[in-house]
Amino acid sequence: MDCIFCQIASGNIPGDMVYQDEEVIAFRDINPQAPVHLIIIPRRHIPSLAHLSEADSALIGRMVAIANQLAKGEGVADKGYRLALNCGKEGGQLVPHLHLHLLGGRRLSGRLG
Ligand code: AMP
Ligand code: ZN
Repeated sequence: MDCIFCQIASGNIPGDMVYQDEEVIAFRDINPQAPVHLIIIPRRHIPSLAHLSEADSALIGRMVAIANQLAKGEGVADKGYRLALNCGKEGGQLVPHLHLHLLGGRRLSGRLG
């Protein structure tokens, strides 16, 4: 499997980890677009939002809850932050392993694309 995020999850490639449990990990984006830019992923390889099944609802809920906790820990919860899930080429997804972006620490553009 040459998926970069699977390799970070397995420890083959180092990540700047900020959270780990048995099914979800989070690390700092290597090319941050804001003072706080974290990537939250499931350990399991799910290619994109379009590959989610009904059974993954709890997993996505946990990823959002973890992101909210991380936003508090990073000190951006009060001022505000953004969670983004890009799906597919036109949705801006470059890494084909489902991931949630947590962006904060500056005034983000109001535009959505
Ligand atoms: P997306 O465009 O939604 O697929 O976002 C992929 C994100 O992963 C980008 O913000 C990249 O900067 C980030 N990224 C790619 N490789 C790594 C890596 N090895 N460690 C941390 N972040 C990465
Ligand atoms: Zn993967």
